Amino acid sequence: MANKPEKFIDENGLRLDGRAVDEIRPMTIEIGVLSRADGSCYLEWGKNKILAAVYGPRELHPRRMQKPDEAIVRYRYNMAAFSVEDRARPGPSRRSIEISKVSRDAFAPIIMTKYYPSAVIDIFAEVLQADAGTRTAAINAASIALADAGIPMKGLISACAVGKVDGQLVLDLSKDEDNYGNADLPIAMTQDGEISLLQMDGNLTKEEFKKALEMASEGCRQILEIQKEALKRKFASHEEVVESLAEVADEIIEDVQKEIELIDEDFEVSELEDEDVIEITIAKTDTSEPVDKAQEEDFTEFTEDESSNVDGPEGYEADKAGERHEQ
Ligand code: UDP
Repeated sequence: MANKPEKFIDENGLRLDGRAVDEIRPMTIEIGVLSRADGSCYLEWGKNKILAAVYGPRELHPRRMQKPDEAIVRYRYNMAAFSVEDRARPGPSRRSIEISKVSRDAFAPIIMTKYYPSAVIDIFAEVLQADAGTRTAAINAASIALADAGIPMKGLISACAVGKVDGQLVLDLSKDEDNYGNADLPIAMTQDGEISLLQMDGNLTKEEFKKALEMASEGCRQILEIQKEALKRKFASHEEVVESLAEVADEIIEDVQKEIELIDEDFEVSELEDEDVIEITIAKTDTSEPVDKAQEEDFTEFTEDESSNVDGPEGYEADKAGERHEQ
């Protein structure tokens, strides 16, 4: 582990990584990265790398665990063994069990579980690389993966931490700030500003706590914009494809309608002479082979004499043409 820095904030008010005290680390989001999950998201936030996958809603087994009036939501936060400097011990730990529980509860206000009685929605958040703020990063990724899975939700959840270093509050802690700072306050919020997760490690005065909440709320608002942008990019491009396909379909329908009008004008069945019918028939049966004269004659006879014996729509049309000829 790196040694404790002497100072976290320089004389210009900038932090060790050059950020202002109220600045979050750069975040990038990719949606739909896993083909076997119903929804997925790969998120990078500073040096954090998180993969979130959502499966469901699907029937929950064993059945005794089902809730008859709503879906249950399961959340598993896991740190890959290679995600931290000192190898993380594989399997659940007290820390990961606690993070899984509070993260699942963070989604309680938004997931419309009543739509899926007896079902389960599984959320997996895999930390591939950790650099402080992994629980909040995982929640941000899970929120997008849920949206990608099409789970009905009242909005998105955004999460961010505030801490205290050198006696000052700082937004979105870096690794050193997290390890050596005086406080760490991760929060998660709904789009309406309702806090759905709040944890605190360290000490803050009442005033600092209030200020920290404001800063974290502002951080969540910024993250919400990044999440919305990512979703727009994914689903707007999908909409564009659908729109352009609809345009092509409209053009085809228009062309077909024009063709039908032309056919109606040029080949009014009631006005057709027998020769016309024969000509059209030959054109239809034309192949690379020369038209067999006998076949041609057969068809002539068929159109003239046997049409009324044919069942189905062709016979019906032929019947009608025959009736018209008789008139
Ligand atoms: N960390 C680690 N090993 C662990 C747990 C955490 O190296 O077993 C590091 C990791 O970089 C993590 C940071 O310590 O992001 C802060 O951990 P914390 O428990 O505060 O959770 P987080 O801030 O990641 O939500």
